[in-house]
Amino acid sequence: MWWTSSPPHVQYLSSVTDERGWPRSIRFKKGRDTSFQQEVQLPKRLIILFCFVRCIYVSPHSLKFTLRRGRMSSKKDAITMLHGAGGTVMHNLVKDYIVKYLGGYSNAEVPLEALDDAAVVGDVVFKSDSHAVKPIFFPGGDIGRLAVSGTVNDIAALGAEPYALACGLILEEGLALSDLEKILASMQSTCREAGVGVVTGDTKVVEKGSLGGCVMNMSGIGRRTAALESNLKVVKQHRSSFAARWVLDANLRAGDKVILSGTIGDHGLAVLSAQQGLKFGSEIKSDVKPLNRMIQRMLGEAGGVVAMKDPTRGGLADALNEWSEKTKVGILIHEEKVPVREDVQTACEMLGLDPLEVGNEGKMIIGTVPAKAQQVLNFLKQTSEGKNAEIIGEATSQFKGVAMQTLVGGKRIIARPVGDPVPRIC
Ligand code: MG
Repeated sequence: MWWTSSPPHVQYLSSVTDERGWPRSIRFKKGRDTSFQQEVQLPKRLIILFCFVRCIYVSPHSLKFTLRRGRMSSKKDAITMLHGAGGTVMHNLVKDYIVKYLGGYSNAEVPLEALDDAAVVGDVVFKSDSHAVKPIFFPGGDIGRLAVSGTVNDIAALGAEPYALACGLILEEGLALSDLEKILASMQSTCREAGVGVVTGDTKVVEKGSLGGCVMNMSGIGRRTAALESNLKVVKQHRSSFAARWVLDANLRAGDKVILSGTIGDHGLAVLSAQQGLKFGSEIKSDVKPLNRMIQRMLGEAGGVVAMKDPTRGGLADALNEWSEKTKVGILIHEEKVPVREDVQTACEMLGLDPLEVGNEGKMIIGTVPAKAQQVLNFLKQTSEGKNAEIIGEATSQFKGVAMQTLVGGKRIIARPVGDPVPRIC
């Protein structure tokens, strides 16, 4: 069948095609008399001419469809939910639009275009992060705890200690004051955990819509510490060419070990269960927490850390691919070493999700010089935040990209995900 629509006076019914797809004959009816049907065998060229004329003249509906298709394709050029979901779609948006227009105009030590977890300007680590998690309360956390932890962890990923936060709140008309109070109390306790305070901010209210209660921006600044200096000194003892002043993505080199500070997928699955009303065998709770205190102690007491990144949207797969792209080294991880809670693994299997691609909010991937990896791991295992830590792999010059040695003995390429499978997780 070629077409299903046609004008009422000559209604096309069907065509019969040969093995190459060319029409051999067409069947049509005239007027409203359904009994009057006619099948006409025509030469191929006339059939094609018929089709063409019908498309542009006889059937304006076809033309409308073509135009509509055109509009649909322009819709593809608009922002979609994937543009905020980590992965290749979001990173392309950041590179092709945000960095294109806003990058390259500062003399920051770590500028926007480095696309690291935070920037460094005037020896101050500076980070801004917006949070639009849906729903605003989920098992194990809420938007307030998430906002404080997200910004604190990004500052901590450069080896700095956060010392002030700024909070921009956008509240939706209709949000219960009791819910706002719960969120603020949660922010207060998370700030105490992290040892940092909110010093300025702003509040706006918008009409009832699709915010889901509220969204917020959390910016923060961090500074150098004695623990960071001590860590860099240890790195230099093992790598004489090391000249970086901060713990940066770009510092990873072939041979470095990759440590994951705990189980993956917990946060994404907890938010998904709240979004969809899903019940798993046991309640899966978000891992959202500030990691700055653990990180400062790790840098000071163990040291040898060259790179850190929190695997948020897009999960471990996205974070490791980002390291690999920036440093041009390959990363090999070992499946049996990647910690995943059994209930998270089961839930992912049920839902067809890959835990490597699901976002986390209380985990850090840590690149260390090989000689210090075990000591860093031993330190992490003594802490509540890092008790499930593992050395999951190493950077290598053998290949580019990220691969995983699987339990069955083969190697699987871990591609950068298109986007996190769970929308609005942070
Ligand atoms: Mg980050």
